[in-house]
Amino acid sequence: MCGFIAVLGPEGQHVIQDVLTGLLAIQHRGQDAAGVVSFEGKFHARKARGLVREVFEERHLERLRGNLAVGHVRYPTVGSGSEADAQPFWLQFPTGIAMAHNGNVTNFHELRRTQLADRAIPLASDCDLEAILYVFADELCRRLEGGAVEAQHIYAAARHVFEHVRGAYSVVGIVAGWGLFAFRDPYGIKPIVLGRRDGPGGPSFAVASESVVLEVAGYERVRDLAAGEALWIGRDREPRSEVLAARPHRPCVFEYVYFARPDSVLDGVSVHAARRRLGQALAEPWRRTGLEADVVIPVPESACTAAQALAEALGVPYREGFVKNRYVGRTFIMPSDAERVSSIRHKLNPIRSEFAGKRVLILDDSIVRGNTSRQIAKIARDMGATKVYMASYSPPLVHPCLYGIDMSTRREFVARGRTAEDVARLIGADHLLYQSVEDMVAAVRGDHADLRFCRACFDGAYPTGDVTARVLETIEDERLAAQ
Ligand code: AMP
Repeated sequence: MCGFIAVLGPEGQHVIQDVLTGLLAIQHRGQDAAGVVSFEGKFHARKARGLVREVFEERHLERLRGNLAVGHVRYPTVGSGSEADAQPFWLQFPTGIAMAHNGNVTNFHELRRTQLADRAIPLASDCDLEAILYVFADELCRRLEGGAVEAQHIYAAARHVFEHVRGAYSVVGIVAGWGLFAFRDPYGIKPIVLGRRDGPGGPSFAVASESVVLEVAGYERVRDLAAGEALWIGRDREPRSEVLAARPHRPCVFEYVYFARPDSVLDGVSVHAARRRLGQALAEPWRRTGLEADVVIPVPESACTAAQALAEALGVPYREGFVKNRYVGRTFIMPSDAERVSSIRHKLNPIRSEFAGKRVLILDDSIVRGNTSRQIAKIARDMGATKVYMASYSPPLVHPCLYGIDMSTRREFVARGRTAEDVARLIGADHLLYQSVEDMVAAVRGDHADLRFCRACFDGAYPTGDVTARVLETIEDERLAAQ
């Protein structure tokens, strides 16, 4: 999972501030590395491992000049990620192109072995974006023949990517001195949204992973890109776009469950509103258990919105029983399980009075390996809870995400091959309630009746249709080898 922003500002202006403001707003999408490539006469680049505020210093801002820039925050999906894999990537020749993406290319190794090897294109990194960049650039340069860059050239190059590159990818980029482009894979799995700001020097455009980026950086949200759509904004500042591949649109449901910021709107659906509905949707199934809770407590922070809605629907008090130390890194991406387990305790500290003598219903957004829930159930008991009920507002996670959300291997899912009762026992809860897939989908969709989602991590139905048992095994082996 990653985040990006690309900006085209008025001639003579520098857009680096907007890019960095935007990257800070999507720091949650990746804390592993950050980078920016801008263009003024030549490409200026800075990328390194670390948080946005650590990677960019005053001297970099002075250097990252120009009205065209692309920025990225990285969350590695395979391996621990080296500096060489940090984005954006760029090419100087035959046409200057810089690019960043969010997603995961499922046929990366095949592309590297065949197509790119045939053309004697060696990749400098293990980052799948490099494959997209070369497939795109190859076709773009073939079409350009040294002339002006026009929308149809960008469409042809994006079409070429759609034909050869499989998986999920939202891509933004710049063509040196010419303009800004963006495209979204044919199933539209990853979010991507266009924004605009009108000013004295003319309009500025930004394309980013989440609408919150646009809002914070001062752009008006125009619209999300459609599945299989390519966009080009050239020297005339006139956005042009075309839908090049007509497949069913399947945005990732996990963005709403966990990944996106609640103040974003993705494909027309407010993440905050979706999470409230996800909480409300659990009220009925909870009542059916016949159990009673004295208090609803969220696992902060992603579950807070849903827990409030659930508590309201049940008429039970909502209490923030855990205090989160936000300066501890994300527990999920620590290299070993032992480290993960202890850092959950460092990250979440309980308030005894909210647990002592109470039947607590603790809500989380999801349960992956079960480490968080196990720790939390134990803490709740240590604090004197008389009953510890756990709930997840998403269904059991049982299939790996191949589209960019780093979601372990099948072997690691605690719910795989187990009933909710089994999992409850394993994590030490008196009861565990999961949301059903149907209720989750209905809740996220709200009144967007025509929206269908990629929910492969819950039901194994991978929309790209190319995920065979063999592909799953290969990817799992890679992940295990990289751990
Ligand atoms: P686990 O302890 O492995 O069960 O992890 C569950 C916790 O990880 C939940 O509290 C989620 O908020 C969080 N989570 C779920 N998916 C991801 C992900 N892809 N990256 C980081 N954290 C996640």
